[in-house]
Amino acid sequence: MASLNDIRSTFLSYFEKNDHRVVDSSPLVPRNDPTLMFTNSGMVQFKNLFTGVEHRDYSRATTAQKCVRAGGKHNDLDNVGYTARHHTFFEMLGNFSFGDYFKEQAIPYAWELLTKEFGIPKDKLLVTVYHTDDEAADIWKKVAGLPDDKIIRIPTADNFWQMGPTGPCGPCTEIFYDHGDHIWGGPPGSPEEDGDRFIEIWNLVFMQNEQFEDGSMIELEMQSIDTGMGLERIGALLQGKHDNYDTDLMRALIEASAHVTHADPDGPGNVHHRVIADHLRSTSFLIADGVMPSNEGRGYVLRRIMRRAMRHAHLLGATDPVMHRLVPELVRQMGQAYPELGRAQVMIEETLLTEETRFKATLDRGLKLLDDELSELPDGAELPGETAFRLYDTYGFPLDLTQDALREKGRSVDTAGFDSAMAAQKAKARAAWSGSGEAADATVWYDIAEEKGTTEFLGYDTEHAEGQV
Ligand code: ATP
Ligand code: MG
Ligand code: MG
Ligand code: MG
Repeated sequence: MASLNDIRSTFLSYFEKNDHRVVDSSPLVPRNDPTLMFTNSGMVQFKNLFTGVEHRDYSRATTAQKCVRAGGKHNDLDNVGYTARHHTFFEMLGNFSFGDYFKEQAIPYAWELLTKEFGIPKDKLLVTVYHTDDEAADIWKKVAGLPDDKIIRIPTADNFWQMGPTGPCGPCTEIFYDHGDHIWGGPPGSPEEDGDRFIEIWNLVFMQNEQFEDGSMIELEMQSIDTGMGLERIGALLQGKHDNYDTDLMRALIEASAHVTHADPDGPGNVHHRVIADHLRSTSFLIADGVMPSNEGRGYVLRRIMRRAMRHAHLLGATDPVMHRLVPELVRQMGQAYPELGRAQVMIEETLLTEETRFKATLDRGLKLLDDELSELPDGAELPGETAFRLYDTYGFPLDLTQDALREKGRSVDTAGFDSAMAAQKAKARAAWSGSGEAADATVWYDIAEEKGTTEFLGYDTEHAEGQV
């Protein structure tokens, strides 16, 4: 059975053989893009090549790119553990053409790799195209011989990609695999498309237009290709599995989690192991790329992910910190492909241990408070925003952690109430400060403190403009 490590290599060598330069993954913190929280697709490191601002000595590239989708426009955090196909950290395999080949070559490459190199039966595959893209539909028909009902025309933004509000854009085609009618879900474009039966494995973007501020759009002179395929998704199907978490690599992490928590990997705690395995990867790779847990921006997203994982470990009965003990298995699995992981191993372990030790001190008490409050509420009632804020302010529970905890019980939080409790807290802090007699403008100081994250209770989401495949 081909491992995820083998599949990554097969992909890269296939495109290398077809004259693509194998380029290393770029870091998760984008180098030249402060508007983007984390690298979330393969094209991020090539933005300037697509716009023609930058030129390199190659016009075709292939990568396995580290991606995190846990904030901003692409936020898959809440899906993790519950769908078969979403991670916060995953690897996106891609091939890129910068004004070199276009659709007529990108589609045959994808089809040959899937059906010849990987040997996927043709009748399990179906594709979508943008509704006006006759060209792509014709190529699919010619190259793959797919019947019309397996070339689905989609009129929505799902099949029209844009780098941002202006700039390069164009139609895309997505390739789906049918895992069989024993799984709930419908084909793309149908009302049941969010199910896990038809899983999107590969997205090919045809950058053929440029969008301007006044709403007009032109054909680009330099037409480019940007593709992205989730390694864990292609891996699952090649390993005869439906679920990404049943691939060799994810399974090894789940078993490591079962080992340190002494909890059956396939018992009722399975969802917790899945979340732990996923969050271990995003946490470790983010730390390896220089992000540290903090109360603002990227660091706060990391802290939220870490604390969520820790709560799930707690639910499995772990009394001592466990996350740091999983790092060696991750390094065993992925350290060869990503040497930065091994180099940062000690720092990752220490950061996890410190964070988990600190959080443990309030986690038990916070969860107890939550249970007590819930038992006093009428059936199905929302948790008052005040309580969620207290958990946040006093016990260090990020709001999404509380929401995650409530989800298991079919409950939700009054988020408007949470926001107003937060606003009231800030107003109170401002008022208290201006009464202190200091000469400095209290409001200004407070805002700076908030920005820099120097006060313990502050943490917030920031929306960022993002690139996507
Ligand atoms: P989906 O519709 O399933 O959420 P997507 O359309 O958001 O996927 P793209 O932005 O097109 O995904 O990313 C390209 C490829 O990366 C997808 O076809 C998929 O194989 C993979 N991928 C995207 N998001 C995730 C994720 N959260 N976890 C694992 N793989 C992912
Ligand atoms: Mg998505
Ligand atoms: Mg999609
Ligand atoms: Mg897609």
